[in-house]
Amino acid sequence: MIQFENPSDCCGCASCEAVCPVGCIVMVKDGEGFSYPKVTTDKCIGCHRCEKVCPVLSIRKQEIGTASLENAPSKAYAARSGQCSGSSSGGIFPHLAETVIRKGGVVYGAAFNSDLRLWHCEATTMEQVMPMRGSKYVQSDLLDTFNEIRSHLEASRPVLFTGTPCQSAALEAFLGKDYELLYNVDCACHGVPSPELLERYLQSIAKKYSSGVKEVDFRDKSHGWRHYRVVYTLENGRIISRSKDDDDYMLLFLQNVSLRPSCYCCPFRKKHCSDLTLSDLWNVSKASPALDDDWGASGILVHSEKGKSLLEECRQEMFLDEIPVGLAVEQNGGLGGDIPVPAQREAFMKEFILKRDLDSFVRNYVRRPSALSKTIAWMKRCAAKVYSKMDRNVK
Ligand SMILES: Cc1cc2nc3c(=O)[nH]c(=O)nc-3n(C[C@H](O)[C@H](O)[C@H](O)COP(=O)(O)OP(=O)(O)OC[C@H]3O[C@@H](n4cnc5c(N)ncnc54)[C@H](O)[C@@H]3O)c2cc1C
Ligand code: SF4
Ligand code: SF4
Ligand code: SF4
Repeated sequence: MIQFENPSDCCGCASCEAVCPVGCIVMVKDGEGFSYPKVTTDKCIGCHRCEKVCPVLSIRKQEIGTASLENAPSKAYAARSGQCSGSSSGGIFPHLAETVIRKGGVVYGAAFNSDLRLWHCEATTMEQVMPMRGSKYVQSDLLDTFNEIRSHLEASRPVLFTGTPCQSAALEAFLGKDYELLYNVDCACHGVPSPELLERYLQSIAKKYSSGVKEVDFRDKSHGWRHYRVVYTLENGRIISRSKDDDDYMLLFLQNVSLRPSCYCCPFRKKHCSDLTLSDLWNVSKASPALDDDWGASGILVHSEKGKSLLEECRQEMFLDEIPVGLAVEQNGGLGGDIPVPAQREAFMKEFILKRDLDSFVRNYVRRPSALSKTIAWMKRCAAKVYSKMDRNVK
């Protein structure tokens, strides 16, 4: 049965829980708010299925992950679609979804429910796909997604799965064989905070503004793609819009203080099990200058023929510029190696476990940009806007 020595050996995919034939595994939250499997040993029949579907054990044994960036002949593209304003990067995901739905298929992605809990859900219409757009910086609950996907595939229905690289690896390990009708797409990922941290942060906002939070957008592009904002819509209609550099939840995430232990030494960031990987192409000015206008640009890594043909099918609906793989990967922590655990993480988590009120300590653990660096960033933004207007006038 499933066993691991350190919390960093479990990415929390819940694949073992989903596969156990006698239901003796349940995912249980630890003090940091991350879920880990707990086995009722006296019910275990020793079938070892939980070990076979564990993506961490599988990748160590090289049983999955053949689409390794280091080994596979992969292509890379800079890309953008007409739907990018509602998406985090270049809006590639909605077009992939539309293509699979047109084939009569089903799409799985992460969306908030009405209590702002993030879960993976199913979509068969574009209306249902819309809430899946946008990166949500919290670990999603996969619920029974993997069993549902297997049923659809066995019934010869196409499926598009989108998730973090560990979830996409977990799906491959769970299915245990290649399905021609499965399109497995992951996003670059430098880590996830726990659902409990988000819940308590939203409670602190609700307390401060005397109204609950109804919606969260972690990647509002109203001030541009690079200088994205976090927008909280309150139940009383008020909108709280903060720069990513002024929001404590985002600072904890971007400064790697609040990530799941497995995210610091994640093998899936480099060794993908998916057909395509979608990312933010932050070095777009170098990789594909035509897309460098701050509306959002995606990097796409192609790992398989199936991924390539899915992209070909929606090529008409997006701008695709082939770029070297190295350019798509460079400067992107979500496609890189290990991340050092910040010195303050342990102390932050200790306070998080002990104290209910986040506001009383959270600021001690994040670095805020100085007034001078904010002014310089603002001046650079203004200069870039003027330059881009002049450039358009010249053309
Ligand atoms: C936790 C997290 C960390 C990320 N870190 C990086 C990074 O370091 N570098 C980088 O280049 N890109 C990162 N991304 C990916 C990037 O932000 C975009 O999600 C990706 O480029 C897709 O862009 P899009 O415009 O095509 O998709 P959109 O239309 O915005 O769709 C978003 C897609 O992401 C999925 N998704 C959203 N939130 C989650 C979640 N919590 N768990 C699983 N799936 C989710 C949705 O199902 C959907 O398929 C991260 C995304 C997440 C969720
Ligand atoms: S060995 Fe089989 S029965 Fe035991 S926990 Fe794992 S999946 Fe469940
Ligand atoms: S990584 Fe997934 S399958 Fe492996 S132990 Fe953790 S929850 Fe179970
Ligand atoms: S960094 Fe790795 S382990 Fe953490 S959520 Fe992303 S893919 Fe999963």
